[in-house]
Amino acid sequence: MICPRCANEKTSVKKTMKGFKNTRLRKCEKCGYVWLTEEKPVKDKEIIEYLEYLEDIGEFKK
Ligand SMILES: [Zn+2]
Repeated sequence: MICPRCANEKTSVKKTMKGFKNTRLRKCEKCGYVWLTEEKPVKDKEIIEYLEYLEDIGEFKK
């Protein structure tokens, strides 16, 4: 993930709190900024269409 403060691409995950949504503590390798991200299931019409598109172009197989 790109650092929200300096836009550096080299960031690392320091801690992951797992559950129905995962919360991750991330740190930027360049400026040292620390922030939290959430990862959760997403399923709506747009995502399903996107998956179908990825299947069509051969980048995803069910
Ligand atoms: Zn940064």
